[in-house]
Amino acid sequence: MKPNLKIFDGLKHQEFVSLRPLIDETKAQVYIETYGCQMNVNDSEVVLSILQDAGYSLCDSIEKADLILVNTCSIRDNAEQRIHGRLDVFRIEKQKRPALIIGVIGCMAERMKEDLFNNRVVDIVAGPDAYRDLPRLVAAAKTGGKQINTILSHEETYADINPVRMDRNGVSAYISIMRGCNNVCSYCIVPYTRGAERSREPKSIIREAELLVANGYKEINLLGQNVDSYLWVNPDDPTDTVNFARLLEMVALIDPSVRVRFSTSHPKDMGNGVLYTMAMYGNICPHIHLPVQSGSSPVLERMNRKYTRESYLERVAMIRKIMPDCAITTDVIVGFCGETQQDYELTLSLFEEVRYDGAYMFYYSERPGTKASRSFKDDVSLEVKTERLNGIIALQNGISLENNRKCIGKEYEVLIEGTSKRCEEELVGRTPQNKTCVFPAKGHKIGEYVRVKVLSCTSATLLSEIV
Ligand code: SF4
Repeated sequence: MKPNLKIFDGLKHQEFVSLRPLIDETKAQVYIETYGCQMNVNDSEVVLSILQDAGYSLCDSIEKADLILVNTCSIRDNAEQRIHGRLDVFRIEKQKRPALIIGVIGCMAERMKEDLFNNRVVDIVAGPDAYRDLPRLVAAAKTGGKQINTILSHEETYADINPVRMDRNGVSAYISIMRGCNNVCSYCIVPYTRGAERSREPKSIIREAELLVANGYKEINLLGQNVDSYLWVNPDDPTDTVNFARLLEMVALIDPSVRVRFSTSHPKDMGNGVLYTMAMYGNICPHIHLPVQSGSSPVLERMNRKYTRESYLERVAMIRKIMPDCAITTDVIVGFCGETQQDYELTLSLFEEVRYDGAYMFYYSERPGTKASRSFKDDVSLEVKTERLNGIIALQNGISLENNRKCIGKEYEVLIEGTSKRCEEELVGRTPQNKTCVFPAKGHKIGEYVRVKVLSCTSATLLSEIV
């Protein structure tokens, strides 16, 4: 799963106006800051729901908070360093108001556990499976003493909790369909911070999706570390099962005018069933995020990815055979333990062959406790890692620009998601292929579908006009 850093701290005040209904200043105030992937964004919405039931209201600044929770990411070292920086900011506020409670939740809480109490500003540490316990932990912390719960579960999916949407547009929402991961890629900390894989009961997913549709949402994103291994087995009848292709179909059938997206896929588990289901339903968006991580089979083996360069390329070919207009994006790590120049060039040549529509590109950051940190030497120098990262970013930016240039002159249906950061008179939205479009508003509003014609582009954006 890819991290996308989202900081509530940076939101301009007027954007919080839409949260007003969530804010009730007569209640105890909780301020939630979220880092990392979409799964964390959705978890923060689950946390808010649990705390609302315990009498809390969301607030929009640390100065107003009685409780501050920072939902953390451990995917790379710099993600954790950022949290230490935030804790320093919270310390100043706590010095002014000693009764203020500070909690660290999420993957860093699970990875570091009691070590986080070395920072005296931290009162509570709660892992991703311990959020139901937060009201008790907060109450206990108020009467003194540090509180911790980092027990990982084999059952917990928060299926009965209706997340409180904190997004600003009311158009696109996330639904977690599963938690944890059993893949144990050697570089990855997620299996240690989010535990074993468990698929959520499909009825609860459909119920949540129907509620979103009833509340006017136009897009549903199904989330999982590896959605292709989603498999729910009826505990009363093991022959009654729901796999990801079936779940995707069930969600698509709720309302054909509501778009359905999902992430993240895994090359070793993705079956043709998912592809045929995508091809059958016009509201399942033709975009697949298919992390490759490396183009070299020996490196993939050390990463424990359980597929080869060849089988990955076969999967890409099958996607394009069944859905020729499907966009494909990916994740890649350069500079992994033992990566030679030749391995790196295999990754470059795979990018040249697949010609992705986009990619999240990183150099290897050793995570304590992972299989790789125990088995392999982090022997590629930072200088070489940086050089290789810059090289693949330059290559991919060229490919993204070339792919976007093919869209010039074409028309697409776009779902309007917000105003452009560049100019208030412009709106922003995405094509079904997940390409970002910016266009003059012409009186249209967030949440509408419009048809746009692409006039020009950058590697990241299609500059368009409504037709
Ligand atoms: S599939 Fe691999 S990289 Fe993704 S969350 Fe699971 S262990 Fe991590």
